[in-house]
Amino acid sequence: MKFIGAHVSAAGGVEQCIARAQAIGANAFALFTKNQRQWQAPPLSEATIRAFKQACEQAGFTPQQILPHDSYLINLGHPDPEGLAKSRDAFLDEIRRCEQLGLCYLNFHPGSHLKQIPEAASLALVSESINWALERSQGVTVVIENTAGQGTNLGWSFEHLATLIAGVEDKSRVGVCFDTCHAFAAGYDLRTAQSCAAVFADFEQIVGFQYLKGMHINGAKCTFGSRVDRHHSLREGNLGEAVFQHIMNDPRFDGIPLILETIDESIWGDEICWLRSLASS
Ligand SMILES: [Zn+2]
Ligand SMILES: [Zn+2]
Repeated sequence: MKFIGAHVSAAGGVEQCIARAQAIGANAFALFTKNQRQWQAPPLSEATIRAFKQACEQAGFTPQQILPHDSYLINLGHPDPEGLAKSRDAFLDEIRRCEQLGLCYLNFHPGSHLKQIPEAASLALVSESINWALERSQGVTVVIENTAGQGTNLGWSFEHLATLIAGVEDKSRVGVCFDTCHAFAAGYDLRTAQSCAAVFADFEQIVGFQYLKGMHINGAKCTFGSRVDRHHSLREGNLGEAVFQHIMNDPRFDGIPLILETIDESIWGDEICWLRSLASS
């Protein structure tokens, strides 16, 4: 079964996400459990936690259908010890918020070397940061997102993802989220059925589908290999439709949240319907 949804707003409280997901016909969703552009956030209240869990249960959302995303400020590969410590603390707080909400994943961008340390050193710091956070938490699997590779961002290649995973001690609590737009921007050609099959075969060989815990389903306003992160609606832009056709008909993408981060949220309901219509069975 395909779990399809979007990254919905948590304005007014995380418990509001569930109704917003239902309103667009989603059976999955993503959210920020705190303001994604600020370091500090008030802790989740008991009332909010209770309301969130109750709303999920009533709507039939299990933790496997929900993909929380962490703050954009966090850099787990930060070259500066102070920046790294601040990022690790914030990351652990994000994991704990997921624990409190009964969620099982936390999706994050690996980090950035900021041209201050070699790429390999920064990648090693990210793995160490993950180990540090996993030792201090339980029940949440951290889900590394492939990036577009904009600026000095790590995690744009399958080799980067494999290196990060190799450095994590508890492999049962690390996964990957595959963003279609980011992959395209990073130079993975997903424009034809044939090229999609080849890219996902590479993914299987280098990373492994056992680590795939979620997808970001996005069109691309950016061009192929541009290393620029610009999302588009699914049926517009430069990515084309072959990759969505592939995902909807490949059982390796069953049972994980498939999340729209497309730019026009007024058509999310239509995009979800359209994705479902692509499944041939
Ligand atoms: Zn992301
Ligand atoms: Zn993006």
